[in-house]
Amino acid sequence: MKKQRVAVFDFACCEGCQLQLLNMDEKLLDLLAVVDIVEWREGMSEHGAAYDIALIEGSITRPEDEERIRRIREQAPVLIELGACASIGGVNKIKNASDLDEVKSCVYGSSAGLPQFATYQTKAIHEVVQVEYTIHGCPIDLVEFTKVMTSIVIGTKPDIPSYPVCVECKMRGNPCRYDYNELCLGVITRAGCNAPCPSAGFWCFGCRGLVDDPNVNAARGMMKEYNITLESLVDKIALFNTR
Ligand code: SF4
Ligand code: SF4
Ligand code: SF4
Repeated sequence: MKKQRVAVFDFACCEGCQLQLLNMDEKLLDLLAVVDIVEWREGMSEHGAAYDIALIEGSITRPEDEERIRRIREQAPVLIELGACASIGGVNKIKNASDLDEVKSCVYGSSAGLPQFATYQTKAIHEVVQVEYTIHGCPIDLVEFTKVMTSIVIGTKPDIPSYPVCVECKMRGNPCRYDYNELCLGVITRAGCNAPCPSAGFWCFGCRGLVDDPNVNAARGMMKEYNITLESLVDKIALFNTR
């Protein structure tokens, strides 16, 4: 079987998802047995001109980002969003809820008008170009990453869950954070991470984005039962899921 060529590209992000790939340690060698990595700024110095799979980390926040992702898309038969910044905009989208000029002057002060700070409203990758697959999370989960890459390499469709984190949380036998008077977003957040946050005693903060078809009635019922206001829910959702 011919090895597929993989290129990793980054846009606005903390590069934590690429760091996760480096954290694969010897499992990275298993991946390299079935794919060739031809470009990966954080992991190697070589630059490959051609690739079959583009892994995209980060959000689109500048006009030149948009041009660059379109060029990558033209060359890549398969394009994968890697992590929350790429798949939902993540924390980079918090600025979309405020006036852009105010945000820029708050961050860059008197330099806000310089051309290198010409950012605009944050976009997820699929809001600019078509993507084939998405690996969710902040950062990505390596078990899920390996499953998705294996599926792509053997030519099957990766199974990305469309049910909420609560399913995995209950399967792990965790006590519910609501019983500790905490607002947990697991009810409306896409599963696939195996609920590490509630399993460690924290509420889910929604880093994998919302499920495709959230059970609004169940969420409404939980909010009523635990006396949670809409404002506090919106507040929590804003961290990763601002539009
Ligand atoms: S998704 Fe999270 S870990 Fe990954 S690049 Fe964005 S902020 Fe960093
Ligand atoms: S702790 Fe969160 S994820 Fe777990 S069952 Fe409760 S609401 Fe769902
Ligand atoms: S439990 Fe929630 S916040 Fe934690 S990794 Fe899963 S989706 Fe992200």
